[in-house]
Amino acid sequence: MLKGKTALVTGSTSGIGLGIAKSLAEQGADVVLSGLASDDEVAALKSELQDTFGVKVGFSGANLTDPDAIEGLMGYVARDFGGADILVNNAGVQHVSPIEDFPVDRWDLIISLNLSAAFHTTRMAISGMKKKGWGRIINTASAHALVASPYKSAYVAAKHGIAGLTKVVALEGAEHGVRCNAICPGYVYTPLVEGQVADTAKARGITEEEVKRDVLLAAQPTKEFVTTEQIGAFATFLCSPGGDGINGAILSMDGGWVAQ
Ligand code: NAD
Repeated sequence: MLKGKTALVTGSTSGIGLGIAKSLAEQGADVVLSGLASDDEVAALKSELQDTFGVKVGFSGANLTDPDAIEGLMGYVARDFGGADILVNNAGVQHVSPIEDFPVDRWDLIISLNLSAAFHTTRMAISGMKKKGWGRIINTASAHALVASPYKSAYVAAKHGIAGLTKVVALEGAEHGVRCNAICPGYVYTPLVEGQVADTAKARGITEEEVKRDVLLAAQPTKEFVTTEQIGAFATFLCSPGGDGINGAILSMDGGWVAQ
């Protein structure tokens, strides 16, 4: 379905981004991975995707908090892949602290990575998409693009910001075959979370099932994690003909979290 398309997925060396990259590659898209990872990790990921799906795989270790590095990344994608037909803005980090103690450098980092990086990639990718008359921009937002939690000022501000950016880009691309949407996951099951479950169970003297249900998934009515495979499948649907009519949507994928 996506043969002949190139997908740039930021933050795709692990977690949600990797799940999206795999799903798009499974449909035949060439993929440019991006993230902070060791040479060995990158080599293993590249050959896994190439061997499994038979697609061309690139990589950039650009630090996406730096607009010049983003320009370098977009130049590489243009030169070696003919530009991004699918852009997934996914790289992001979190910091948890009461606002009066929130470190200023963490605020700046989160705003630049979780929000401004998507502005820079989008502004550099959208002209090529408009010229081709087809493009898909998918922003990984969060339930925190719609509701807040205490101690997450920078993250919640950035994610609400990405929801606004999504809507503006959707309007600007609408008549040019470009679609822009945001996926808002709740708690996602990643290896990182898996580790947290075991550690928290040990620390609190409760079972791993109790940690998942009563601690991590307290806000998620299904009491089930969203998986990276589900998010990959959803992102791929947005790139399919069936997704053509979806534009500027802030799409929850959180087991009912924001329905409460
Ligand atoms: P992750 O830590 O597994 O992946 C983050 C990716 O971003 C990695 O590839 C990492 O190398 C990359 N990255 C980090 N700093 C970078 C930088 N300065 N420059 C370039 N790349 C950088 O995280 P994840 O859980 O897969 O999260 C991915 C996205 O999903 C984030 O935007 C996050 O806010 C969002 N999200 C996650 C969850 C969850 O429960 N895990 C829920 C909702 C939203």
